[in-house]
Amino acid sequence: MSRKVSLIRGDGIGPEIVDATVSVIEALGVDLEWEEVRAGSGAYKDLGTPLPEETLLSIARNQCVLKGPLETPIGTGFRSINVAIRKHFDMYANVRPAKISPAMTTRFSDTNVDMVIVRENTEGAYAGIEHVIPPNRAAAETIILITRWACERIVRYAFEYARREGRSKVTLVHKANILKESNGLLLEVGQTIAREYDDIEFEDMIVDNCCMQMVIRPERFDVIVTENLFGDILSDLAAGLIGGLGLTPGANIGEGAAMFEAVHGTAPDIAGQGIANPTALMRSAGMMLGHLGYVNEGKLLEKAITKALASPSTRTGDLGGTANTKAYTQALISAIQEG
Ligand code: ATP
Repeated sequence: MSRKVSLIRGDGIGPEIVDATVSVIEALGVDLEWEEVRAGSGAYKDLGTPLPEETLLSIARNQCVLKGPLETPIGTGFRSINVAIRKHFDMYANVRPAKISPAMTTRFSDTNVDMVIVRENTEGAYAGIEHVIPPNRAAAETIILITRWACERIVRYAFEYARREGRSKVTLVHKANILKESNGLLLEVGQTIAREYDDIEFEDMIVDNCCMQMVIRPERFDVIVTENLFGDILSDLAAGLIGGLGLTPGANIGEGAAMFEAVHGTAPDIAGQGIANPTALMRSAGMMLGHLGYVNEGKLLEKAITKALASPSTRTGDLGGTANTKAYTQALISAIQEG
């Protein structure tokens, strides 16, 4: 029986990269049944809401969604539709692998960058606890909320991920020397939970040092676990190490549902031109295949991506190549068929 997955094509370059990704998954022979649902500004124009109830029900039913980037229409009461979906399903772990591709020359090609950032996705400075102090916005306050419960589940997730994926080290990144209470709690929880995983090496690192180490010795990192704001920044830094956002996948994992999406946005400047790079979404789909148990197909996909990225004639323009989305996708499908 085929596995149903919710599919959101999204806004901007979303439909182009989603269609390319779907055709590549079909070429892999994975028996998925896509349930297409709407979200974002396209949904708002056609249906009067950027996040229809049917979309949430579909994700709840299928527990898995592949999503193109979404534009959040102004004046609809949403700060971000992406965040609204993550919040609705309590997708607390944002997982972003950054592995350098042997196919391409980048600034860091001679280093073995292969790290995974596990970012706490629900709390910290992004919890939205903010207010302005009158008169005339004399001051403004954002509260960094960190709970023991959320620290425990994200640290445990990172260790379980490391174990499952055959990784050997977890680095907890924090700023406990200054944010003694909130980040101190995260560090304390991390140190306690680390004792339960004596097969995995554990270290902690202050975030500013981590930024420098990621640039000068990126190969020393394996799994990084950190709070929301630091995770946001470090994962873009990691994306830069491997060649940019066009290559970087992401997963948002909760107990009841998981969402797989590229890290980049809707790229309105190139939308509709057929030149977008679908690799980040395809790699997100690769993570989804692993999540659903299609591990070999996920590996085959990555192998095909490596092959297609190797030549400028099959790479997209953002990576210095001459191919458009269709030509790159066709090169990938040929690589899959060759095995
Ligand atoms: P949003 O507001 O949705 O985040 P944005 O344009 O501010 O959109 P991105 O969509 O991440 O942010 O785009 C940043 C830049 O990177 C743009 O110039 C865009 O064209 C380019 N870009 C992003 N994703 C891709 C992609 N998949 N392929 C090619 N170029 C991309």
